[in-house]
Amino acid sequence: MNSGGGRGGGGGGGGGGGASGSWRRVVVVGGGIAGALLAKSIQFHTDVVLIDQKEYFEIPWTNLRSKVEPSVAEKSLINHSDYLVNGKVITSSAVDVSEAAVMTAEGREVAYEYLVIATGHTVSTPRRRRDRLEQFQEDNVKIQNSGSVLIVGGGPTGVELAAEIAVDYPDKKVTLVHNGPRLLEFIGRKASNKALNWLKSKKVEVLLDQSVDLNSISEADRVYTTSSGETIEADSHFLCVDRPLGSSWLAETALKNSLDKYGRLMVDEHLRVRGHSNIFAIGDITDIPELKQGFLAQRHAMVAAKNLKLLAAGAKEGKLASYKPGSAMAMVTLGRKEAVAQLPFMTMVGPLPGLFKSRDLFVHRTRKQMGLNHH
Ligand SMILES: Cc1cc2nc3c(=O)[nH]c(=O)nc-3n(C[C@H](O)[C@H](O)[C@H](O)COP(=O)(O)OP(=O)(O)OC[C@H]3O[C@@H](n4cnc5c(N)ncnc54)[C@H](O)[C@@H]3O)c2cc1C
Repeated sequence: MNSGGGRGGGGGGGGGGGASGSWRRVVVVGGGIAGALLAKSIQFHTDVVLIDQKEYFEIPWTNLRSKVEPSVAEKSLINHSDYLVNGKVITSSAVDVSEAAVMTAEGREVAYEYLVIATGHTVSTPRRRRDRLEQFQEDNVKIQNSGSVLIVGGGPTGVELAAEIAVDYPDKKVTLVHNGPRLLEFIGRKASNKALNWLKSKKVEVLLDQSVDLNSISEADRVYTTSSGETIEADSHFLCVDRPLGSSWLAETALKNSLDKYGRLMVDEHLRVRGHSNIFAIGDITDIPELKQGFLAQRHAMVAAKNLKLLAAGAKEGKLASYKPGSAMAMVTLGRKEAVAQLPFMTMVGPLPGLFKSRDLFVHRTRKQMGLNHH
């Protein structure tokens, strides 16, 4: 089997913080919001290898706008090689991990001294950036050619997509079906109600507590039947159901005892996986008691990066930085100008919260964080 390239590929797995700066090799698995920022941040301090299923990093919450305006994706899909200029990228799925190495789907064995797991949620997006760009073009044509659209799923993805279509194509009939009692169940009831009322004001039909049998739907039929027997006519549909956590690949590995009952990796305050002093976990995959949000995943990345740099410089255990869970804040875009925001002490809907996120979807800020502000 191949070793992953770069310097110091030796196994041993015993980084463990005891090597007083003599170790170099960090393997990061998962190039989402958390893993990409971490890899970028440590690239001049360690030999970093990033393993991701895709050759690019995608700002996840821009992808609904990219369906109504595909050119947005030109800026929100960033090749890993654009920001990871002093590291190695392996485009593959990680399928196994031992105390010393990560195994990829192609049978490659990538040795690590320190490991960071950042596999958030599973993705089914294409491996190549150009194919992802094409996918947005196709979705856009599908929306343009449809007089009516069915959206299945009332989490943030379904709500944001319904809102994007309602704002950009006010003449299209949009129906949103959600199998729970309220939209946006990951945040508070007030925010759910505000989002529901906003969608209704834009003539989106919202059906709660109903589901559509995903196996029996076909766009050719144009008629969809819900679990309550209601029929919906639509020219096309989009599935916006929750993606599973990206931890099933860990279930039979050296980390299996560090997964909680939800499949999340249990971490200590320094973001190290419980029971493994040379393995960190960051982002949505962790069991940190807070909302799963990208801005928090970025904070995890910065804490873990700091700790890896300290360890690489030979710092003692007691010097490691700690992470404090974030407050329950979240913002869901409602088209180009408005949003619903849950803040620590209040919930708001309309143009004011929209000022923060809805126009540019934090693209400029995220690119700047990745060292790409000049583009
Ligand atoms: C519609 C929507 C809107 C949102 N809006 C916001 C917002 O406004 N602000 C905010 O802060 N957060 C927002 N979020 C939440 C935010 O997107 C997530 O919290 C964030 O993406 C988590 O980042 P992550 O790096 O942990 O995981 P992910 O972004 O899920 O990235 C995981 C990465 O791991 C890779 N991967 C997975 N499994 C493997 C494997 N086995 N091998 C190799 N690679 C693997 C994937 O390819 C992917 O690159 C939103 C989410 C949604 C769905």
